[in-house]
Amino acid sequence: MSTLFRSTRDLQGTSPVGFREALFRGLAPDGGLYQPVLIPGLPEQWQAAASFPDLAELVLTTWLGDAGLGHDRFVSLVHDAFSFPVPLTALSDDRWLLELHHGPTLAFKDFGARFMARIMDALLADAGEKLTIVVATSGDTGSAVADGFAGLRNTDVVLLYPQGRVSPLQELQLTVRRPGVRTLAVAGTFDDCQRMAKEVLADDEVRKLGVSSANSINIGRLLPQQLYYLWAVKLLAGQGVTALATEPKADRQPAPLFSVPSGNLGNLTAGVMAALSGARIQGFIAAHNANDWFPRWLSGQVTDRDFPATVQTLSNAMDVGAPSNFERLEAFGEPARRLVSGQGFTDSATLAAIARTAQEDGLLVCPHTAVGLQAVNWHRSTSEAVPTVVLATAHAAKFPEVVSRAVPGADLSHPGLEPLKNAETAGQSIAADTAALKQFLLD
Ligand SMILES: *Cc1c(COP(=O)(O)O)cnc(C)c1O
Repeated sequence: MSTLFRSTRDLQGTSPVGFREALFRGLAPDGGLYQPVLIPGLPEQWQAAASFPDLAELVLTTWLGDAGLGHDRFVSLVHDAFSFPVPLTALSDDRWLLELHHGPTLAFKDFGARFMARIMDALLADAGEKLTIVVATSGDTGSAVADGFAGLRNTDVVLLYPQGRVSPLQELQLTVRRPGVRTLAVAGTFDDCQRMAKEVLADDEVRKLGVSSANSINIGRLLPQQLYYLWAVKLLAGQGVTALATEPKADRQPAPLFSVPSGNLGNLTAGVMAALSGARIQGFIAAHNANDWFPRWLSGQVTDRDFPATVQTLSNAMDVGAPSNFERLEAFGEPARRLVSGQGFTDSATLAAIARTAQEDGLLVCPHTAVGLQAVNWHRSTSEAVPTVVLATAHAAKFPEVVSRAVPGADLSHPGLEPLKNAETAGQSIAADTAALKQFLLD
C-alpha cells in the first residue's frame, strides 16, 4: 500500500508514478510538480503517538508503506531523520510558536532535507547506484541539504551559491567542510546558480555520471513537512483545542489556525495536505514579505501569472518572486483555496514584530517568524480571534544583524553555531558559466 503521484499538469492522472520515481525525478517530465493522486486519510491512533518520530512513523507509513525498504529499515530511517525536539511554546493571547529550528542547521528545511537524503541514500544502496546531487541555494536550503546528505555513502553533493550575496553566517554554514559535499561560490546571482544547475542536469554527458536535484519542489521534502502541523494539532488537542474533523459539532472547541511565513509556498502546501488528510485545522495565513504576489492573487488584486521580479527584504529566505509550489496549491483546487488567506508585510513591520515579541513575550524570533506573528495581528483585525500557531521557521541566532537592529544588545549566541566559528571551510570559486560547472563535475 503506497500512494501514487501525478504531475500537476496531468489533472486526469493518466500517468501516475510511484514514490521512488517521483523522488528521483524531482520535476515531472511534462514540467509539472508531483503531488498525490489521492491524499490518504490519517492513520487511526495518530493522536496517541508519544513522540514526534512515532507520529512520523505512523503517518509516513500510511503514505509510503515501507517505501520498498522493509518495515524495520524504513522505521529506523524515519526515527533517525527526526531526532530533534519540536516544541510548541505558548505566547500571550491564545498564540503558540511551533519551533521548527531545533535541527542541525536551525531552520525548518532540516525536516525535508534529512528525510529526503536518508531515503534517497537507502534506495540507492539497494539498487547499487550512486548519485551526485546538484543544488543551487540562496541560503537555508543549501546548508540543510548539505548537512542532510553529509556522510551518506551513496550520494555526494555539489552546492552552488552566489558569492557575496549570502550573509557571513550563511556562508560559513554553506562552506564548512562536510564529507561528500563540495561547495562552489559562483561569481554571479542566485538566478545564475539555478540556471547552471538546471543546464548540467539536462546535459547528456553529465547525466551519465548519475545526477539529481534536491530542490524545494521535491515531493520527498514536502511529505515530512506535513508532520509538524499534525504534531501541533495533537499537542493542542491535549490542551482542549480539538483536532479531529469527525468530532461531534456540539462540544467543539475552535480548531487552530496556522500562520505560515511563506516564500516558495512549500510549507503552506504541506500544511494544506495535512488539513486535507483530515486534521481539524481552521485554516492558514500565508504570511509574506514584500514579495507578495500570492496574497494579492488570493484577494483578486492580480489575476494573471505575471510574476514580479524578486525584491530583497530582511526575511531573505522568503524572497521569492514566483512561488513554484503555487502550481500545487492550484491543482488541489477549491478545497485548498478555502483554507488559505494571506497578506504581505514591510521590513519595518517585521522589525516592529521582533521588538514587540521580545518585549511582550520575552522571546527572540527570526525575521521570517516575525512576519508570521505580524500576520496574526492582521488576521485578528479582520476576523474573530481563534487559537493560532505561528511556525517559527528559523532560529533568531541565524540572523544576528537583523534581530539586533530590532532588539539592540540581544544575546544572539547559539551553541549550535559555536563550532562553526573555528570550523574548517572548503569553498571553491567558479565562473557563472555552465561549461565551467560541467568541467568541474566531469573531473
Ligand atoms: C525557506 C524558508 C521560508 C519559506 O518557506 P517556503 O516553503 O519556501 O514558503 C521561511 N522561513 C525560513 C527561515 C526559510 O528558510
